[in-house]
Amino acid sequence: DSLVSAAGEAEERALEAALRPKNLDDFVGQARVRQQLSLVLEASRIRERTADHVLLSGPPGLGKTTLAMIIAAEMNAPLRISSGPAIQHAGDLAAILSSLTEGEILFLDEIHRMSRPAEEMLYMAMEDFRVDIVVGKGPGATAIPLDLPPFTLVGATTRAGLLPGPLRDRFGFTGHLEFYSTGELELVLRRSAMLLDLKVNSAGFAEIASRSRGTPRIANRLLRRVRDWALVHKLEEIDLRAASAALDMYEVDARGLDRLDRSVLTALITKFNGGPVGLSTLAIAVGEETETVETVAEPYLVREGLLGRTPRGRVATAAAWEHLGMVPPAGAMF
Ligand code: ATP
Repeated sequence: DSLVSAAGEAEERALEAALRPKNLDDFVGQARVRQQLSLVLEASRIRERTADHVLLSGPPGLGKTTLAMIIAAEMNAPLRISSGPAIQHAGDLAAILSSLTEGEILFLDEIHRMSRPAEEMLYMAMEDFRVDIVVGKGPGATAIPLDLPPFTLVGATTRAGLLPGPLRDRFGFTGHLEFYSTGELELVLRRSAMLLDLKVNSAGFAEIASRSRGTPRIANRLLRRVRDWALVHKLEEIDLRAASAALDMYEVDARGLDRLDRSVLTALITKFNGGPVGLSTLAIAVGEETETVETVAEPYLVREGLLGRTPRGRVATAAAWEHLGMVPPAGAMF
């Protein structure tokens, strides 16, 4: 069973890579970030200097990794990929930094999860293209300065607010990625369907887009599930009926909420009578990390008007009760 799922996962990853847009023009939506980024890159090309460091923030699956790859492609520079959790010691970071070549793009995903000492080393590297390698321990320890070739750091984080101020300040440009509109997701899906050689009609595209939680990664994933469904049911073209039947089977509801979203709302309503309840208590009730609830589930629930943040905690809105088919208690305040 695990072999099958490992193979399935590898296929999913390969497909995801195949569907990634390769340049800024193919990148759908995020008009403001795209414009600003294009200006940063153009200016650095004119000045013949490496581009300023770029911070990308936003919920998972909105295109941060894709943008880092596009930056490297547009700058005609090699790309090195690592992530905060993989850098637990300053030495791990020193090893990466000291092996960069001039102009290289270093992409650090989940940059807010780097260890403190590594973070401090990164400050200096970003500002002066230099690191101090500490050799030895205790009073005999010495710092050996090491010059680095100029590079561009592209940091990604689910929330810019999770980063300490000094690190945030060292980025020349911060792009906040927003959830995509249904129209934009339809464009993502049309492009993917073309690449996968799939026939989908307009109503089919609209249905998949509206259930994709504002997220291109989810849109592409749902498209593949619908494709499987159509294959098994021997359908030539995916239409509204096929799309909604397939997505119902995969437990994606009509508003695109997934299992985590629904369990947060269900806990909030059934265990805490709609709130207000503190974020960490809510996270314990659904058996998830506080950060996961805050950065993965919450942004979309807030955007959809299903969950509210108040100084006293999280509350379910009237729309949330309604969505779960429940009636709020008399006198509930929203
Ligand atoms: P995470 O932080 O969880 O890794 P991410 O924000 O880095 O997520 P990506 O891996 O860049 O997200 O994107 C996920 C998938 O969505 C990719 O396969 C890519 O093809 C697709 N995608 C993302 N943004 C766009 C876009 N603007 N246009 C078309 N496809 C996109």
